[in-house]
Amino acid sequence: MVRRIFGLESEYGFVFQNKSQKAYPPERALEFLFQGILMNSWSRDAFLPNGARIYQDTGSHPEYSTPECDRVRDVVVHDKAGERILSRAVDFAFDHLHEEGVDGSLFVLKNNTDSAGNSYGCHENYLIDRNVTFWRLSRTLIPFFVTRQIFAGAGGLVPDGEGKVMFALSPRALHIREKISCSTTSSRPIINTRDEPHADPQKYRRLHIIVGDSNMSELSNYLKVGATALVLQVIEEGGLHDRMSLEDPIRSIREISLDPTLTRKVRLEGGREMTALEIQWEYLDSVRSFLSREGPIPAASREILDLWERVLSELGRDPEHLSREMDWCIKFRTMVQYREAKGLDWSHPVLSMLDYQYHDVHVDRGLYNRLVRSGRVDRLVEEEEVLCAMEVPPQTTRAKLRGAHIRQAMKEHRSFTVDWTYMRLNDPPQETVHWSDPFRNWENGSTE
Ligand code: ATP
Ligand code: MG
Ligand code: MG
Repeated sequence: MVRRIFGLESEYGFVFQNKSQKAYPPERALEFLFQGILMNSWSRDAFLPNGARIYQDTGSHPEYSTPECDRVRDVVVHDKAGERILSRAVDFAFDHLHEEGVDGSLFVLKNNTDSAGNSYGCHENYLIDRNVTFWRLSRTLIPFFVTRQIFAGAGGLVPDGEGKVMFALSPRALHIREKISCSTTSSRPIINTRDEPHADPQKYRRLHIIVGDSNMSELSNYLKVGATALVLQVIEEGGLHDRMSLEDPIRSIREISLDPTLTRKVRLEGGREMTALEIQWEYLDSVRSFLSREGPIPAASREILDLWERVLSELGRDPEHLSREMDWCIKFRTMVQYREAKGLDWSHPVLSMLDYQYHDVHVDRGLYNRLVRSGRVDRLVEEEEVLCAMEVPPQTTRAKLRGAHIRQAMKEHRSFTVDWTYMRLNDPPQETVHWSDPFRNWENGSTE
């Protein structure tokens, strides 16, 4: 697998339920949450000693952006570390609210829509070669992103248009309105044209993908980023030329999301019809044969290809077989079991509660976390790795430098200004240190 920089941004839902008599501003509860992460600071936008960024996005959503990783597995670990940091902050905020005499609960949810139907979620970042024509890239990627939800979707209940609710593969998919655009909020596109590479713009582009759900499942997250990285590699190396094009990708992404049986066919340009599964098989087969054209495929890529193949095969047999591994399958099985045991309709409020609880990041309370603890969900990584990533940046990218400088500055109680590509100590101001190369994990002594 070619070396590439990855980063995941997760926007979290924040819910404060005040159970006491006196009014209490939710804003203040959110303040405590941030203080639980950025001790002794009132900031709402900061970088952490593990190289990540935490900030308050529009609509009171806390957002955690992982540090730059150069291995798919690392980005899964660091995204999970973000959940743990927020879980710890929830306990901190809860204790402080109680000290203030407030009887309330707070929840941080790594989900994709709120009860009012607003969408937020996950932004994926991939460093790619500037020389690839954006038009060709987009055209080749669109059918892949439209169909990727069959394994990457988080699953969830959505309105069925007739006053009831139904189970969808990807809640986010239903909020996608355009094929390509620069917007990330008003008209969410399959391909986002934002172009801030945080690296040498002559050589690179940072592909910013906003079409996917946030994932709780480490395997879904791993396959989502891993399969995308392989598709990008093949496009960069000149393969996957003008594959299939969908007649109406926005209609298709919706149709696929609303069909957990995976049998729905979508129309391609020219009139041919295929299921999402068949389209994913085409991508997988093309990627595998392209990558093996010059000999054995490297182990890291093979591992992803093998998982991709196993997951597609199981989806073809029965998605229930993935109910320990892939988000939507785990959630679907849990909900169906509950629903059947209690004889409930999909529209029953208990089922929407389950839907939310699945994404509660709290380590003890969250439903996904409880399923993991009771041995009903498989993990990709070790918890020790996740706990380590809460403090330690990836060691193979510039995040290592950022983390070390931040840790040192904090130790010395120095004020500093930092971003993805630079850092400067203030009071007294010092020369800015630049890290324009995201692959570089050591300092060359010069400040460019
Ligand atoms: P917004 O939050 O408005 O969408 P943004 O997309 O610029 O802004 P940030 O929240 O600051 O993003 O997160 C940037 C993400 O990009 C991080 O996860 C980071 O690790 C990743 N990243 C940083 N530099 C690069 C790079 N050169 N290539 C790929 N990813 C990168
Ligand atoms: Mg962001
Ligand atoms: Mg973003």
